[in-house]
Amino acid sequence: MDHHDRPARAVLIAVTPCPKPADYDASVRKAGGAPWVPVIGADDPDGVLARADGLLLTGGDDVDPALFGAAPHSTYEPAEPGRDAYEIALVRRALAARVPVLAICRGLQVLNVAAGGTLIQDIPSECRTDVNHSGPSSAALAHAVEVVPGSHLDAMLERSAGSGAVMVNSRHHQAIDVLGQGLVVTARAPDGIIEGVEGPGPAFCVGVQWHPESFHRTREFDGVFAAFIDACAERRRL
Ligand code: MN
Repeated sequence: MDHHDRPARAVLIAVTPCPKPADYDASVRKAGGAPWVPVIGADDPDGVLARADGLLLTGGDDVDPALFGAAPHSTYEPAEPGRDAYEIALVRRALAARVPVLAICRGLQVLNVAAGGTLIQDIPSECRTDVNHSGPSSAALAHAVEVVPGSHLDAMLERSAGSGAVMVNSRHHQAIDVLGQGLVVTARAPDGIIEGVEGPGPAFCVGVQWHPESFHRTREFDGVFAAFIDACAERRRL
């Protein structure tokens, strides 16, 4: 078997369909992965996970409160038809198959709901806070997060943004309320809002409430995507 003169295939990352895919696409490519956006209703979740080396859950509109047993808040903005169920099916299968998962913003919320957790539906009306979680739609830094030492997230951020307290952007009005089963908190904003979670097991499962993909033109959060792509390449070798 001569492997050496054949270039390694880039790891294939299933990137869930979302309204603004460009920054996710660029971030995956920058880290050496090949992004692939499966189609809701056409690419069934089992087929996606059989093919992909990793799953990236992207940002977007609100998770349906019915999925965590709550009545909708007046600010509820539904996501694309079928997206909630599709992403929940994908992340459950990925966790069962130990396919690495990176969950961003809405993605972290989908991960939490898929694990049986609940969400705060609207931070401004449900929480007393001085922290601005609804910054501009860009890479503008909005608030600090305190990262739990020794977490996977801490090690990932050490590769670029630094460890301990880091500044992040923030474009969310939902957030984790009751934590899903098997998840642990890895970062919080100064007001206590959960900004990072991960699965406790050896498989890579990392969620962040901010948008690291907005920074692909610079390098603040390159470590997040680099660690994710490394985990995907590692799993493919097994
Ligand atoms: Mn925030």
